[in-house]
Amino acid sequence: MSIRGNLFIVSAPSGAGKSSLISALLKDKPCDMQVSVSHTTRQPRPGEVNGQHYHFVSVEEFKALIAANAFFEWAEVFGNYYGTSRTVIEQTLAKGIDVFLDIDWQGGEQVKKLMPEAVGIFILPPSKSELARRLTGRGQDSQEVIDSRMAQAVSEMSHYTQYDFVIVNDDFDTALVDLQAIIRSQRLTCASQSYTHNGMLVDLLAN
Ligand code: GDP
Ligand code: ADP
Ligand code: 5GP
Repeated sequence: MSIRGNLFIVSAPSGAGKSSLISALLKDKPCDMQVSVSHTTRQPRPGEVNGQHYHFVSVEEFKALIAANAFFEWAEVFGNYYGTSRTVIEQTLAKGIDVFLDIDWQGGEQVKKLMPEAVGIFILPPSKSELARRLTGRGQDSQEVIDSRMAQAVSEMSHYTQYDFVIVNDDFDTALVDLQAIIRSQRLTCASQSYTHNGMLVDLLAN
């Protein structure tokens, strides 16, 4: 059996806290997990760095990448295109590194079809009013963008049933522990443990 990392799909309505949870998870730069950096046609927010938060590209460049079959999945979200690079995902998983996809439900659906063993995690806010408060408090989007994201939140959240796990991000630290618990349990499945402890198992099972 070859070594293979786990693929985690993390989705949520905008403002529920998925980017914050993923960055807290990766804060100490663990060598066994990575977040996938998507391509997008949206404008960078203040402080967003090209290549770190997203690969910011023009619509023409994005369409050329679609034509070149460069995306594992892509979708139009809030009027912009977003997509996940195919080679980065495949190469990272092949190295045994777990990969996190911060993608919308349309992308999540595509990934589940392509890779049914991918683990879906949906993040919910504790209430609509708290979601609105966080989107405004983040202070990085215009009021028009915030209104449009709030208007789409209910439809986004209705897809939570398509995911394997649901985390309510009320208290941040509790939500982070929940996320870590999901990852840990995924690494303890029979299939994962068979990869990780291959040598030990050969030894244990030899007559
Ligand atoms: P956020 O909601 O504050 O994280 O806002 P973003 O502008 O960063 O993301 C907008 C939407 O695009 C979110 O629903 C993301 O999950 C989704 N998204 C980001 N990257 C990708 C991607 O590579 N593929 C897909 N399908 N969706 C993505
Ligand atoms: P998303 O990536 O889902 O759009 P963010 O991670 O950008 O969401 O979070 C939106 C805002 O809410 C940020 O300002 C973040 O600091 C804040 N936030 C995230 N989780 C919590 C929480 N549990 N309690 C309070 N504020 C939070
Ligand atoms: P934002 O513009 O706030 O960074 O992201 C808006 C939404 O796009 C978020 O829900 C985010 O998860 C989603 N998103 C970001 N990158 C991708 C991607 O590569 N594919 C898909 N399908 N969605 C993405």
